[in-house]
Amino acid sequence: MPKPERVEVLVLGSGAGGKLLASHMAKAGRRTAVVERKWIGGSCPNINCLPSKNEVKSAEVAHTVYDAGPFGTVVTDARVDMTQVVSRKRKMVEGLVAMQVDAFRTNGAELILGQAHFVALKTVEVALNDGGTRLLSADRVFLDLGTRPHVPPIPGLAETAFTNIELLELEGSLFANVRPHRPKRVGRAGVVAGIGAAALLGASALTMGVLLRRDRRKAPWR
Ligand SMILES: Cc1cc2nc3c(=O)[nH]c(=O)nc-3n(C[C@H](O)[C@H](O)[C@H](O)COP(=O)(O)OP(=O)(O)OC[C@H]3O[C@@H](n4cnc5c(N)ncnc54)[C@H](O)[C@@H]3O)c2cc1C
Repeated sequence: MPKPERVEVLVLGSGAGGKLLASHMAKAGRRTAVVERKWIGGSCPNINCLPSKNEVKSAEVAHTVYDAGPFGTVVTDARVDMTQVVSRKRKMVEGLVAMQVDAFRTNGAELILGQAHFVALKTVEVALNDGGTRLLSADRVFLDLGTRPHVPPIPGLAETAFTNIELLELEGSLFANVRPHRPKRVGRAGVVAGIGAAALLGASALTMGVLLRRDRRKAPWR
């Protein structure tokens, strides 16, 4: 094995914990590298919390407009333009990613874009997104590798299911220039990913049902 590059702190994954840890360690003067394979800043600002709330906000606005009549505002032609909804969301995500890249730079943490895997104790090989590999070892290695969507083993589902990633990028034929229905209020349930998605789709175009697992029928917000 070639001699690895040495850092004091190596953080794998730039999610909620990883990005703060990398920035703090670097700021404290430790030679720090953070490896991220795709979502700079983690899933929350890229594909989960913030983009879903961004699109739910668009759905809320549509709801308000569509429901404006009883309040004395006459709306003659309201429709949802999903291309604009998605574009607004992408712009926000791009801004958040740029902010994160900047934070790493300012704090002195090296951001390495690629997929990391261990090849020896405290030593990882990174398959760089731009091609090639780097071998790094560290006194301390921290893992913040997050989670990924799980598609349950229901026949046919894997080929057709949308996870949150595809859902938040939908702007095409399914939604094109649709007129919003009146969604029911979802209240606090907005923080629950599936309910957030249902609220978004329900407010945008479709009649929604939410399936809960038998052992999780009691929804956490009740
Ligand atoms: C639709 C949706 C909405 C949500 N809304 C909210 C909300 O409103 N509020 C809330 O508190 N939570 C919310 N969550 C949950 C929240 O997004 C997660 O709990 C949180 O982002 C997890 O953070 P993390 O740091 O553990 O992982 P992540 O943010 O997933 O970070 C892990 C990172 O590691 C990278 N990675 C993984 N393996 C490797 C590897 N081998 N090499 C290099 N990089 C790697 C990944 O690309 C990823 O960027 C939501 C979740 C979903 C699905």
